[in-house]
Order: sequence, then C-alpha cells, then structure tokens
Amino acid sequence: MIQTFDALILGGGAAGLMCAIEAGKRGRRVAVLEHADRLGKKILISGGGRCNFTNLHCRPEHFLSSNPHFAKSALAGYTPGDFIALVEKHGIGYHEKTLGQLFCNGSAREIVEMLEQECRWAQVSILLKADIRKVSRADEFVVRTVDAEFRAPVVVAATGGLSIPKIGATSFGYDLARQFGLKIRQPRPGLVPLLLGPEDRLRYCDLAGVSAEVLASCREQQFREKMLITHRGLSGPAILQISSYWEKPHALEIDLAPGRRVTDVFCDPKVPRNTAALRSELRQNLPARLADRWLERYAPGAWSNAALGGFERQVHAWSISPTATEGFEKAEVTVGGIDTDELSAKTMECRKIPGLYFIGEVVDVTGHLGGFNFQWAWASGAAAGRAL
Ligand SMILES: Cc1cc2nc3c(=O)[nH]c(=O)nc-3n(C[C@H](O)[C@H](O)[C@H](O)COP(=O)(O)OP(=O)(O)OC[C@H]3O[C@@H](n4cnc5c(N)ncnc54)[C@H](O)[C@@H]3O)c2cc1C
Repeated sequence: MIQTFDALILGGGAAGLMCAIEAGKRGRRVAVLEHADRLGKKILISGGGRCNFTNLHCRPEHFLSSNPHFAKSALAGYTPGDFIALVEKHGIGYHEKTLGQLFCNGSAREIVEMLEQECRWAQVSILLKADIRKVSRADEFVVRTVDAEFRAPVVVAATGGLSIPKIGATSFGYDLARQFGLKIRQPRPGLVPLLLGPEDRLRYCDLAGVSAEVLASCREQQFREKMLITHRGLSGPAILQISSYWEKPHALEIDLAPGRRVTDVFCDPKVPRNTAALRSELRQNLPARLADRWLERYAPGAWSNAALGGFERQVHAWSISPTATEGFEKAEVTVGGIDTDELSAKTMECRKIPGLYFIGEVVDVTGHLGGFNFQWAWASGAAAGRAL
C-alpha cells in the first residue's frame, strides 16, 4: 500500500505535532508517523505531570548550542505569547510557578489533547505504531514501515533526543542524519543528576534529601537555585541546570552561601570566636545537618582573621568533581545533536538535502530547565511547518 502526502513528519511529540499543525493549517497534506501507541508521551510526563509548557522570559541566552545565534530566528517567529494564546483558545487553565515558568493547573494531558484537536482541525493524518524501517530518497522521499510505504517531497525528522528510552526515545534522528552525511554534535545527557565518586559519597551522601540554595558554577556558567543531595550524588534545579554544561573532568564550584559573608559577624568584638557562633551563622544559609557536616570537615584551624578568611573562601567555592551523570535514563534532555551548520535557521531545512528538515530536541539546541525546551520544540516546529 503506497500513500502520498505533501510532507511526512517522523515523530509525534511536541515539535512534530506543532509542525504538522502549522503545515496542515496552510493546506498541506501532512502525515505524522509515530512509533509509540499514542502521541506526546513525553509531554504527558513533563513538569511532574503538569507540563511546564513555556517560559515568559524566554531568550536566546537560555539555550546551549555550538552556534548561540541559531535559535534566534525561530524563537522570534513563535514566542511564548503565541503558545499561551493557543492554550487560552482551548480554555486550559495555567499558572506561573516561579521564574516565568508556566504550568497547567490541571494535567499535561490537556496540552496533548489540545495538540490532537488542532491536528484534527488541520486535517493532519496521524499514524500510530508506525515502525519505520527505511527512509530513502530518489525524486521524492520514501518512508517504509513494516506494512506500508509513504511518499512525499518533504520529510521532517522530529524524533527527539535520547533521554528516557523507556518511553520511546530512539537514535532515529541521528541515524537519519548520518545516512544523509550530516554532521552531529556528540549527544550527551543534560538536565541530569550528577554522580559522586566513592569518597565524596561517604562524605556527603548520608545527607540524602537535604537541600540548600546555592550558586553552582562550571565553565563560566552559573545558576542560583536549590541543590539536593541524593544517595548517589547531587541533584536539584541548580545541579540539573549546571549538568548541561558539565563534562568530565571539570569540577563544579558551589557557593554555599551566595551573596552573604558568614564570618562577618566576627567583626563585632562582642561576638565570641568559637564553633557555636560559626555554626549558628552557617545554619542561616544551610540546613543544620549540612552546616554541621561542613564544620566537621572544614572548621577553621584557628580563630584568626586569616583563618576565618580561608573558611569564608571555602564556603563560597566548594570544588567538587562529579564522576559521571545519571545518564539518559534520568536526563530530561539531550545536549548536542544535528549540527546547526547543516540547517537553515529560518526553516530548519538541511542546506545539503532540500526537503529534509530536523526540528526539536534532535537539533543541537538545548534549553535550560523551566519550559525552554518545549518553547524550542514549538518554535522550531512552527518554523518548519510554515515553510512546508
Ligand atoms: C521527565 C521529563 C520532563 C520534562 N519536563 C519538561 C518541562 O516541564 N518543560 C520543558 O520545556 N521540557 C521538559 N522536558 C523536555 C521536553 O519534554 C523535550 O525537550 C521535548 O519533548 C522535545 O520535543 P521533541 O518533539 O523534539 O521530542 P519528543 O517530545 O521526545 O518527541 C519525539 C517523538 O518521536 C517519537 N519517536 C522516536 N523515535 C521514533 C521512531 N524511530 N519512529 C517514529 N517515532 C519515533 C517518540 O515516541 C516521540 O513521540 C522534559 C523531559 C523529560 C524526560
């Protein structure tokens, strides 16, 4: 059975559905081929089930890419306001949780249902359980599944990154890029908890569950948010954010008392210079167990100004070297992907292979935590969809 369309979109996640909707609205005959048994599985589990679908403060600086300018055009062409308008059109309640992050009041399911409804209105054909075996190109693209053949002048790869393989992530997009001779920036896990080596685990991981607001830095990036100690290492928003920049053998530098000098109190001659006073200062920034552990390890050797100065510096520059990340099983995103040099920033079409497009997470554009990854999926999907 051969079916022909104007465009075949491989992958029915955030980017693929947005692309299909935009192209369908413009009268294109579009099919979405999704290998799972339902659309948007990652949307369903996102944001703790409430989908942090965009961020009010979305700017190009919130994205990692080997070309920091690449995302600008697509992000300007489809803004958080555009997605919010869509959400409001469907009567979906939402709220700002923190730092511009917008979540559904109810469930992420509402976002998937909204996209499905928009697909129906745009007369998009959806094919689930589409097990794609081969993509080839002669006069047009031919996509073969186990039991059917599809033809179209355009193929859009929207198969996402490698994170969370158990809900359907595959290397399909990267394999397709390789098949057509495109460059790929090595994919690696991002927004992912970090693992500590055996010695650091012994030192800190019995404090699992303890969290504190810190400033985490690595390779000239820094994030001031919560850090969480886990049974195997470090997590929490500050660590997830910095993990996207971390690579072995770099160390993280963690400021445990950002913006506050914990030893200033000792400038007052009436304050006794002793461990109890220092503990009480430290506990203003850190949970008691972490403050106590810090003092066990790094208490000043004397109460001189010089020794207190050393203690102060150490509190603001805890250098810790993770040994690895928790991997794609736990990563929220994939850093790296299809090299942006290969793509038009306006349309996401391959420069070398006309008619072949890559959108969403499979491209070397990765957002910070906080709704930016969906905004990239919507924006890159819309950019391609409007060009088809
Ligand atoms: C636990 C978790 C929570 C997250 N929460 C948020 C959040 O709140 N806010 C945010 O901005 N981002 C969040 N993200 C990131 C966000 O989900 C992704 O960046 C976004 O979904 C990427 O969109 P995409 O369309 O490129 O890929 P995906 O949404 O992953 O869609 C790819 C689709 O392609 C399909 N597919 C894969 N291989 C094939 C194949 N061979 N054949 C056919 N189909 C295939 C997949 O089944 C999937 O449906 C979260 C990620 C995770 C893992």
